[in-house]
Amino acid sequence: MSKGKRFYQLRYLDTNQPMYLEDVGNTLKISGLLLQGMSSDVIILAPTAEMINPVTMNIIEPTLEEWSEILRQSDDPQYFELDETGTIKALHRKQRGAISGAIQQKMWMRDGLLCLFCGREMGDVSLTVDHFMPLELGGENDETNYITACRKCNKRKGNRHPEEYCEDQGLKYHLYVDYLNPNLPLGTVAHSPAFIADAAKDAKRWKNAQKKTHKTLDK
Ligand SMILES: [Zn+2]
Repeated sequence: MSKGKRFYQLRYLDTNQPMYLEDVGNTLKISGLLLQGMSSDVIILAPTAEMINPVTMNIIEPTLEEWSEILRQSDDPQYFELDETGTIKALHRKQRGAISGAIQQKMWMRDGLLCLFCGREMGDVSLTVDHFMPLELGGENDETNYITACRKCNKRKGNRHPEEYCEDQGLKYHLYVDYLNPNLPLGTVAHSPAFIADAAKDAKRWKNAQKKTHKTLDK
């Protein structure tokens, strides 16, 4: 995953969960700050920006000093950019593909609170949500490509192609592909997180047994 902070265009769904839309680079003329709150949205207009078309939002025009102070204090800011037509594009400055906490929790529940790569449970390990196919390799940034992984497995997998990772770990790649396939009917064995986790545990046991055998032979 690239380390640099870049801007991503977001689209807000009904649930108010931002969805990643596109990478718009790391340099950008920011028109302002968008505060999305309880019942109304507020725009804090950058002192250098001008609203081209009036919008139905509350607009605050801070001084340059206030503006830099606001930016400094925003730890999770949503910027916006006005294009030629005066349309507002919401932008987020964040790590590419960062998955929101609410979605992570949803994925943990879907995956039975198990690391699907080593089969260990929440409580034994600390869980994360990983992109099965890395974004860099064309993976989607949605639930069909999210998978629960413990920190260790997530780190070990890194940005490798999942097929390569599975082969390396003795895991059955096709089980994961089936599990994440939204077109397969729910309720089939392939869709059971417990089944995947069991298969993963078996793979680990097999790998460890092989290692031991090799050690014995080496002696
Ligand atoms: Zn794991």
